Amino acid sequence: MSQRSRRVAVLAHCHLNVNTKVLGLAEYAGVRREVVLPLLEAGVGIVQLPCPEATYLGMRRWGMTREQYDVSAYRRHCERILEPTIDTLVALADDTCVIEVVLGVDGSPNCGVTRTCFGYAGGEIEALFAAGDSPRATDAPTAGVFMEVLRTLLADAGLDVVFRGVDEGVADA
Ligand code: SF4
Repeated sequence: MSQRSRRVAVLAHCHLNVNTKVLGLAEYAGVRREVVLPLLEAGVGIVQLPCPEATYLGMRRWGMTREQYDVSAYRRHCERILEPTIDTLVALADDTCVIEVVLGVDGSPNCGVTRTCFGYAGGEIEALFAAGDSPRATDAPTAGVFMEVLRTLLADAGLDVVFRGVDEGVADA
């Protein structure tokens, strides 16, 4: 007898693998338990999104802001790495699964849903600090680049999915 719940949640990569986050930003050891355990207990299947930053700049990248990622080549990168995920979600939906939610990471320049960060204009970081003008990122009430691309691709595929942001600094989801 099949035990499929036919319920699916789509999670930002680092909810299931904190190791992709920018150095110094890991607030849990591996999996974000507060996000994942309720899904496990409710029998919800989990689709893990790719991490757009780790696959673009690797693990020695600096923390960056939304406008630094918001260029055509990077958006194409997001579209390309999301292709298999969209195909999977379409197949699941065609098989009567319900794609219940996308859980992003509020505060991220890419995976933010209701909050992202702006502020770096570019230039030599060492020179900015030397001049006493250290760059500051500020919050903005909008989505990150990757979530924006994902939302468009889901809509193009005919999938209407709720997006929720999990705050980077808050444990409850
Ligand atoms: S928030 Fe998004 S871009 Fe940042 S580490 Fe997590 S999955 Fe990667």
